[in-house]
Formats: sequence, structure tokens, C-alpha cells
Amino acid sequence: MTIIASNFKTNHTRKSTALFIEKLNNYLLQNSIKNEVFVFPTSTSLDKFNTISNLQIGVQNAYATSSGSFTGEIGTFQLNEFEIKTILIGHSERRHILSETQSQIAKKYEFYKSLGYKIIYCIGEPLEVKKQGLEKTLEYIYEQFDGIDTNYENLILAYEPVWAIGTGVTATNDDIKNVHTAIKKKINKPLLYGGSVKVENVKEICEIENVDGALIGTASWVIEDFIQIIENTK
Ligand code: PGA
Repeated sequence: MTIIASNFKTNHTRKSTALFIEKLNNYLLQNSIKNEVFVFPTSTSLDKFNTISNLQIGVQNAYATSSGSFTGEIGTFQLNEFEIKTILIGHSERRHILSETQSQIAKKYEFYKSLGYKIIYCIGEPLEVKKQGLEKTLEYIYEQFDGIDTNYENLILAYEPVWAIGTGVTATNDDIKNVHTAIKKKINKPLLYGGSVKVENVKEICEIENVDGALIGTASWVIEDFIQIIENTK
């Protein structure tokens, strides 16, 4: 079964998010799609969506707390209101733009793990590391598992090379296969690929050995495209 996840990043309003989810819901219901489908809206657009079993709503980020004094952050006290039980952790934009450290990420992971959240945990190397070859790439990726309990039952991994995210440059099938095969040998968890996945290439990518699905940003923000992505991988 293929896992398909849409990461809205800093896009969509409450209204357009609700419409997106409603259309997606209807499509999934009417077509009895077996794919496991996730949507990660912005925190301001979270709601108690009337979803069906194979559509899951997650949060893109939250702090390792229930509530308290953490200006600008949200915790499980807020997430519980919307019955959110899925979180994205370690996304490259949080690591590189928001400067989240591995120890902060590991702390967040532990916290949400302790509450039984489904975690999509992202890893991936920057271009300068990729240029040094597969061995260095894997070394870099394995460091991103520092402090992370990879035996956790509700863990899904997402390999997202930093240089492929939002750039239109997708990793080659060989790149994806090599990295995925190596990671899978070490950690036997569902492993998604992310980084410029598009309507046109999603099927081919999802058919690569050891690829269990895709985490998609840009190409998933228009509902018709996202539905086509699911169609292409069902
Ligand atoms: P992209 O983003 O599909 O726009 O490359 C993927 C991601 O950041 O999850």
C-alpha cells in the first residue's frame, strides 16, 4: 500500500484548506482508494475535519509540550482540540531555515512518541554532502538518527534530499534506490521519498525498490493535482 502525504508548508487559508479536505474526502470515499493519505495543513487551518479512515490530518510542527510559556509555539493542549495524532518532525526547512538542532528534534520526537503520535520523520543531505558520494551521504543521514528511537511502531521515514526540495530537481531513480535500500537495511520502517515529486513522476518513483510512498510539497497544493497523484499511485 502506497503512502501519499501532502505538506502544505506556509500555504492555503482555513477556507481553502477546508475545501481541499472536503474534495479529497469525497474522492477517497467514492473511489475506495487504499493508499494511506496524509495532509499537513498550516497550524492556523487545523480543524476537526470530518475525515475518513485512510485520510489522516497531521501538524507540520509543534513544540514538545502540552501547554506553557513558549511564545509562538503550539502544544498538545491545542492539538487535542482537533484530535491531531500525527506530526512531521525533522523537515529540512526546520533544520536549515529555522535552525532546529538534532537534540531539539530528538526531544520533540521523544515527546510525541511518548504520546503515541504517528511521526513522519524526515532526513536528507544537502548538495555539498551529496557531491561527496553515497558513503558520505549515508553517514550524514545516519547522524540525523541521533537520539531517535527507530524501533518506534508509529514511525514513517521520509528521505528528502535538501537539494531536491522545492527546486524542481528530483533525485535520479538510482540515487533514490541506493539511499532507500541502505536506510531500509538498517531501519525497517515505511520509507517515503520527497523532493520535487510531481504528477508526472510520482508513479515511477513509487515503483522504485524500497520506496513506500511520497511526501509532496509544491505539486500537492492544488487539489486536482493531488488527486491525480493518488490516482497515479493507487
Ligand atoms: P517539494 O517539497 O515537493 O516542493 O519539493 C517536499 C517537501 O518539502 O516535503
